[in-house]
Amino acid sequence: MSVPKRPVTVQKYGGSSLADPAQIRDVARRVARLGREGTDVIVVVSAMGKTTDELVQLAYAVSPQPNRRELDMLLTTGERVSMALLSMALNDEGCPAVSFTGSQAGVITDGAHSNARVVDVRPTRIEAELAAGRCTVIAGFQGVSPSTKEITTLGRGGSDVTAVAFAAHFKADRCEIRKDVDGVHSADPREIAEARHLPTLSTDELLDMTFWGAKVMHYRSVELAHALEMPLVVAAAHPGAETEARCTRITKTIALGERTMYEQSRVLSVNSHGDVRWVVIEAPDAVSALAQFEAGLATEALPWPQLLDGEARGAASWAFLVVAPGETLDALARMAGRREGLSVEAPGWASVTVTCRGAHASDFPLALVRRLSEADVEVHKLLFGPMSVTIVVSQEARTGAAQALHLFSAPNEFK
Ligand code: ADP
Ligand code: ASP
Ligand code: MG
Repeated sequence: MSVPKRPVTVQKYGGSSLADPAQIRDVARRVARLGREGTDVIVVVSAMGKTTDELVQLAYAVSPQPNRRELDMLLTTGERVSMALLSMALNDEGCPAVSFTGSQAGVITDGAHSNARVVDVRPTRIEAELAAGRCTVIAGFQGVSPSTKEITTLGRGGSDVTAVAFAAHFKADRCEIRKDVDGVHSADPREIAEARHLPTLSTDELLDMTFWGAKVMHYRSVELAHALEMPLVVAAAHPGAETEARCTRITKTIALGERTMYEQSRVLSVNSHGDVRWVVIEAPDAVSALAQFEAGLATEALPWPQLLDGEARGAASWAFLVVAPGETLDALARMAGRREGLSVEAPGWASVTVTCRGAHASDFPLALVRRLSEADVEVHKLLFGPMSVTIVVSQEARTGAAQALHLFSAPNEFK
């Protein structure tokens, strides 16, 4: 008689949920409980609290231009601390556990330091530990490149990518992203007090939101979940009585029963990039501009920033609107200082995006600009996509614009 397969749960805990020893012990209690209930548990952890930011600062305090390989060596230590501490706490809870770095866990990436892509997952050691009845704790955000034989990192916030990759590999019954919020909201609840909890989302809706700055999950992790059809659950890491049962379920498609009508028109969420900059390249056309930029990035071993918009500036240059983590923006500015024909402009702008279901076959863009004008917000740019409208405004106007646009997400406000 064959033994029934035990359910597999992947749980990812972010740094803000592993900020101190008490939180680590609390996570261990929850994971141990799940193990006792007969589930195979793979835990993916981020670095404690603000550790990664502190390590980045430390690197720049030592070296104005840290070597990218060594920066990855440094940053991966943050997750290593968390994994070892959580594994200790799990053993104390009577839950046998073993921790693994990304490379030990078989996270295979390309060779791009600071922004490596996961190309394969070969978790033979994880399989063996699960078969032996042990819980496994994996350091998120890191892997190893077989071609360069180097340790890599997956980009800021990249532990989410690790979690989705393992959940897909193990065909997990649940992939839970556990955080300091109880799910995805109609705006960042830290910035907009009225933000509402969203119980269900499709992966393409969350993709749009994360592309336009919703920090709640890493864009590439949602992309992976969409491509591999891995359902996700975003929920609180340390739930209280009120949030215990609350979560956001994210699936590739949403059943009609959960939608109120066939063709829905609804504002879902307002998100924002707080600092967008122009990269200006002297070149006659887009091909030579981007090729020149790529060559510069490769020479300096820098990752591409995220491109939001691009336009010709007269006949002799091209400008691209970009966002990137602070350390990448700083490195880009320094690179521009050293290279002819490349400059970075910081116009003091931010983007605010309204992600919608089906808002384009309507007068929504007009309603949106009217509301901004009533709120005295000057709009520098309007960008339209299939699921969203983005405005570019001054950084001072960002919160006011987000608040004004968030009013659209109220039930019955724009339908
Ligand atoms: P973790 O350390 O768990 O990866 P992050 O700090 O990366 O957590 O992301 C969680 C934060 O994302 C929340 O504390 C919240 O402030 C922010 N956030 C931004 N936009 C949203 C949104 N639309 N819904 C929920 N949280 C959001
Ligand atoms: N610790 C890394 C970061 O802060 C990765 C992550 O949190 O997912 O970016
Ligand atoms: Mg994160």
